[in-house]
Amino acid sequence: MTQRTRPWGYQEPFDGKKPNWDLHPDTLAIRAGLSRSGFGETGEALYLSSGFTYDSAEQAESAFKEESAHHLYSRFSNPTVSMFEERMAALEGAEACFATATGMSAMFSSVACLVKAGDRVVASMAMFSSCYVVLTEILPSWGVEIVLVEGNDKKQWAQALSVPTKVVFIESPSNPMMEIVDIRMVSDLAHKVGATVVVDNVMGTPVLQKPLELGADVVMYSATKHIDGQGRVLGGAILGSRDYIKNSVIPFTRHTGQSMSAFNAWVMLKSLETVTMRVERMASNALKIAEFLAGHKKIEMVSYPFLKSDKNYKLAKKQMRGGGTTIGFKIKGDKDKAFKFMNALRVIDISNNLGDSKSLITHPSSTTHRRLGFEVQAQMGITPNLVRLSVGLENIDDLIADLKQALGK
Ligand SMILES: *Cc1c(COP(=O)(O)O)cnc(C)c1O
Repeated sequence: MTQRTRPWGYQEPFDGKKPNWDLHPDTLAIRAGLSRSGFGETGEALYLSSGFTYDSAEQAESAFKEESAHHLYSRFSNPTVSMFEERMAALEGAEACFATATGMSAMFSSVACLVKAGDRVVASMAMFSSCYVVLTEILPSWGVEIVLVEGNDKKQWAQALSVPTKVVFIESPSNPMMEIVDIRMVSDLAHKVGATVVVDNVMGTPVLQKPLELGADVVMYSATKHIDGQGRVLGGAILGSRDYIKNSVIPFTRHTGQSMSAFNAWVMLKSLETVTMRVERMASNALKIAEFLAGHKKIEMVSYPFLKSDKNYKLAKKQMRGGGTTIGFKIKGDKDKAFKFMNALRVIDISNNLGDSKSLITHPSSTTHRRLGFEVQAQMGITPNLVRLSVGLENIDDLIADLKQALGK
């Protein structure tokens, strides 16, 4: 049995026999990282153990000196979590991965481990509200300068990235408006001024978008969303080069304690086995629903990047394999009309989560993005008549029937 102990130790995705051809990501999502115990179990083992023991004091010393591979303590690494990290790295095409307790701990750690007082961070304006709070309130209170730009404005990016910058943070597509940032263009500009490009790929998903292939340096996920995707556990992941994970992320997280629990990693491992299937189906359902909504007389606008009429269609087609699983759309009228529509739905649930196998509808202005206030909301295109639909795995005819009857009221 191979001991997989270090998140940066990713080398060999298989125990024992290794195929002599490059495996497809769909296969890696099911098999990479598997490290069987001596029992030869089919399913991944769940190692619920906070600590680990040593044969001798000498072995403990050598493990702490990192001269031998041995798990020390589950805040640093755990066999089940390591399997999840290796599977994620293989699926993403990254050298290494560090799994975190939540998506926000992944977002926070991926940026915070790189910056100190006096450093500069540039980010696209449209983003998940907790990410916005980290970047515009928490980091600035520690002396980090933050510059926000309009995500699709090349001039603003060029100007913001004309001086030395430590980190560029992009959320593309953005939550909830599905704004698209040109990851290649921004990465090229960022690298010229020495910045590390971090992409929040939650809405892109590991299935539909590969930021590292587009020039980004780091990808982070809320694994709570499509990776678990069945409404059960929280989690996150940071992916990048071995050097970044080993020398920037781990020294930070090791002492501040963002680690994923072994139980959650075990749930996520099983979820990864179906992530490709689920996301592809959700995205194909989403495109059909976006087309239905775009043609409906009670809808003011629909934002879904794979809709031919979408302003980001060309760019989205260039950098994504599918338009995502979430649609932002505005009901003609005010907040009242939006609430009436949501309350009339019979299959689709009202919830603030997304990326779930159950279709979920959200009113961002009063819930997920409430914290930002109306002014910042407006800058992000979030109005009181906007709703966000996370499209699930239900039969497409039932979903469209549900939307149709609710819009009819
Ligand atoms: C949900 C979400 C997060 C935060 O993830 P949690 O697992 O809830 O902490 C970060 N970014 C985006 C785009 C999200 O949708």
